Amino acid sequence: MGLPSGITLLYLLAAVLFIVGLHQLSSPRHARSGNLVAAAGAVIAFITTLFVLHHSALNLILMALAILIGIPIGAVAARAVKMTAMPQMVASFNGVGGGAAALVAIVEFLGRPAGTTSLVVSISVVFAVVIGATSFAGSGIAYAKLQEMMRGTPITYPGQQPVNAAVGAAILLLGVLVVVAGIGVLGLWLLLLLALVLGVAFVLPIGGADMPVVISLLNAFTGLAVAGDGFVLGNPVLIVGGTLVGASGTFLTMMMSEAMGRSIANLLFGAFGKIQVGPETAASGPRNVRSGSAEDIGTLLAYSQRVVIVPGYGLAVAQAQHAARDLAEALEKRGVAVEYAIHPVAGRMPGHMNVLLAEANVPYEQLKDMDEINDSFKSTDVALVVGANDVVNPAAHNSPGSPIYGMPILNADQARNIVFMKRSMRPGFAGIDNELMYDPKTIMFFGDAKDSLTKLVAAVKAA
Ligand code: NDP
Repeated sequence: MGLPSGITLLYLLAAVLFIVGLHQLSSPRHARSGNLVAAAGAVIAFITTLFVLHHSALNLILMALAILIGIPIGAVAARAVKMTAMPQMVASFNGVGGGAAALVAIVEFLGRPAGTTSLVVSISVVFAVVIGATSFAGSGIAYAKLQEMMRGTPITYPGQQPVNAAVGAAILLLGVLVVVAGIGVLGLWLLLLLALVLGVAFVLPIGGADMPVVISLLNAFTGLAVAGDGFVLGNPVLIVGGTLVGASGTFLTMMMSEAMGRSIANLLFGAFGKIQVGPETAASGPRNVRSGSAEDIGTLLAYSQRVVIVPGYGLAVAQAQHAARDLAEALEKRGVAVEYAIHPVAGRMPGHMNVLLAEANVPYEQLKDMDEINDSFKSTDVALVVGANDVVNPAAHNSPGSPIYGMPILNADQARNIVFMKRSMRPGFAGIDNELMYDPKTIMFFGDAKDSLTKLVAAVKAA
């Protein structure tokens, strides 16, 4: 189906804006404008499509209604969501996208006279229905787990993998039958049902820290389902946009699992994320830790030459990013060099720490990636660990039985002094003890991250 050249050009413009926006998202400095550029591309694509559609007045009314209802829901939800609940929000938006892609494919298929559908379109319909519905159901379960509406740990039962494999095989068989034997209507609804079952079954055994990785994978699924719709509808901008989401979601998934030191296969099929108690936790009785007062630590910081702040999930929960920046500024006024060490999976979503610290106007130059900063901990006077835990846990290097063994960590243990700021001796997300807390170089500073940082600002100024 050929499109008028004006329409094709506008679609091309939208696709270019998607690509430029995506490129800008790779740096915190340009991420905001990247978002706007990509959104402008989406608006152009949407308005252009209105001129391509053969729509009735009823269609227009329905579309206007959907827009009128959808925009406030999306805008309010995006503004109200807490940064720590962002993975759930992505899961819900992503899930409805996948479900919509599946339904669009079915409706389009059913609307065509029997026997007029080409092989490419039939395959694309099956693809979009299966992948879109899997993403819809899987994202729903991911949302429920993260929102604590159901148990967040892996849910397993005997024979789970064979059952999942059987559902997958049934989908494959049915998909082939829809394409070659033309059992269209019934076949597609059955496929939709089975794909929903697969989505649920696929996410149930995944839990805990692996959830955001799965959400990223489901996001890639939705993108691919949308690209499938692009082939069904003969719409190039859907193909480009969907493929971009599919590719970037796949990369993100790979980068996240690499940053956690896990293979994707193990993550998906190994019932990973199970909160395990490491041998060190089980074996250890009460042990001594050294804790300090705000005044002691303030003096230590004020007379240092170089301080590295290691932010983690606790900083996000406490909303302590502004207090962290205040402390860094107070130290810099005294001539102390301050940098922030950013672990790729610190917090609960990719880029979590960058977003938080950018919100507090921390200069981008001070944010250092793990690879960039890890060697310089040796020449650091104080590593100030603020609400982080797993990302500095030496068990990742030293304890082969540990669930985080193999995960690259920030070398905070190599600093001359470590100040560990948290509320208690409780473990982090992985549920394992952290030897760093018992290190003779470590001073614990217990309390809510925001309160503690505020006290340290005063102590540094008074030192
Ligand atoms: P962790 O979850 O390991 O530790 C956070 C620490 O913050 C806890 O030990 C907690 O201790 C402390 N804390 C909580 N609330 C507060 C508060 N109000 N004030 C001060 N401290 C507080 O966080 P990390 O950032 O080190 O590690 C992230 C974890 O999440 C990793 O296991 C990673 O694999 C996982 N993950 C991250 C993803 C991502 O994309 N970022 C994706 C998937 C998983 P206490 O209760 O004693 O205060």
